[in-house]
Amino acid sequence: MPDDLLKRLRRFEKRYFPQFRREFRALVDRGQRPTTLFIGCSDSRLVPHLLTASGPGELFVVRNVGSFVPPFDASHGYHGTCAAIEFAVLHLDVRDIVVCGHSHCGAIRALYADPHPEAVHMREWLELGRDAVMPVQATEEALRRTEQRSIVLQLERLMGYPMVASRVRKGQIYLHGWHYLIEEGRVDVLDVESGRFMPAGAARGEVARDVIDLLQ
Ligand SMILES: [Zn+2]
Repeated sequence: MPDDLLKRLRRFEKRYFPQFRREFRALVDRGQRPTTLFIGCSDSRLVPHLLTASGPGELFVVRNVGSFVPPFDASHGYHGTCAAIEFAVLHLDVRDIVVCGHSHCGAIRALYADPHPEAVHMREWLELGRDAVMPVQATEEALRRTEQRSIVLQLERLMGYPMVASRVRKGQIYLHGWHYLIEEGRVDVLDVESGRFMPAGAARGEVARDVIDLLQ
């Protein structure tokens, strides 16, 4: 519906932008200094700025199908997620990196099904979540568990990036694994003490440098 999209653009220009004109001006003059790299699934129901109450300039966001992190070895070719990680760490000096998966993730569900016959790229891409799959029926419970296992897997892969691992060890970067439950409006976070996902209020908050022990 192009008309609808144009209408939305006009609304942004007329109603939204004027309220934040100064903030955007400052972000242009001073440049962006986001402190968080947010690696999230492309799912339309996941709204990073809503979850974190963030405004312009606060989150450096990269999204893809499944919130996957490709390996550092460049085997996935020209990949935007890898470039975004490098840019966020090397140029923006982010302090936190969040990997955020979610309930009812289509990518995780697809790992238990046959690929779409017309999909050319999906097959290989989904392999980035393969090790999270369990040898069971894809029940809702198994899917939630697989979503969480995949988040841990992606954090492990993130630690394969030398520029990330060295900064995590020095306490300059903190890693976070989040599992967003859409229907409950809750984010369970990976708790370093227990290795489990817990409601954000009950967890220690930051996986921090202990993530090395947990993931190895
Ligand atoms: Zn998803």
